Amino acid sequence: MKAQVVVVGGGAVGLIAAKTLVENGLETILVEEHEEIGVPEHCAGLFNLVNFKRLGLPISEKYFENIVRGAVLHSPTGRKIELDAGRSIAIVTSRRGLDLFLAEEFERKGGSLMLGNRVVNVTSGDNLVKVETRRGLEIKAEKLVDAEGMASILLRKILNKTTERNMWIPIIQLWVEGHSLDPRYVYLFFERYLPEFFAYLIPVNDEVGKIGV
Ligand SMILES: Cc1cc2nc3c(=O)[nH]c(=O)nc-3n(C[C@H](O)[C@H](O)[C@H](O)COP(=O)(O)OP(=O)(O)OC[C@H]3O[C@@H](n4cnc5c(N)ncnc54)[C@H](O)[C@@H]3O)c2cc1C
Repeated sequence: MKAQVVVVGGGAVGLIAAKTLVENGLETILVEEHEEIGVPEHCAGLFNLVNFKRLGLPISEKYFENIVRGAVLHSPTGRKIELDAGRSIAIVTSRRGLDLFLAEEFERKGGSLMLGNRVVNVTSGDNLVKVETRRGLEIKAEKLVDAEGMASILLRKILNKTTERNMWIPIIQLWVEGHSLDPRYVYLFFERYLPEFFAYLIPVNDEVGKIGV
């Protein structure tokens, strides 16, 4: 297969890049290792509203979950600090829904999505890059966008660099029901047993929310 640009990775970065490329008339192929876009969902889907709009993303029912105006911070000593912007500042989305929306837009505008294809090799020559997937798919393109997230296959192959695993922070995210908190805020918990990060509760409404630790 041939294209002007090949994008590796169908997360938010790859999808937004790929959509922007086709919108600018470039023949683009996006390669994603998973069979389905947006799965598994590694994100709480909370985004700054200004930046969300700057990316040209509409507030769509396909992924909209909530709008928040501030945060409530809980300190390790039990103090509570409420930050209220007095206006809507962040959108809570279904990250899966958002990724699916971006993928649909990309395809609708003429992009090609190759799912279930893990890129395992990349080489270059004659002003072209060639990516090869585990399933034997070969794509030649003039440009490559590395959007593989924290994975670093391409980073290693092209720049001989890797992401620093000692900087990774393991997170587990779960859905909860019955939190009964004001859904206009997100809740952050700084605890002594979480020295490198914090726990969060991001409400979808006054009953359901996402917690991450
Ligand atoms: C629990 C959790 C909650 C989070 N909550 C938020 C939040 O609320 N707001 C926020 O802004 N950020 C949040 N983040 C961070 C956010 O998820 C990431 O910053 C974002 O997903 C990065 O997007 P990306 O496209 O670079 O990478 P990813 O979303 O990781 O996408 C990379 C894609 O590339 C694919 N891929 C990788 N290697 C290959 C390969 N060799 N071949 C083919 N495909 C490949 C992967 O399968 C994946 O689909 C959260 C992260 C976690 C873990």
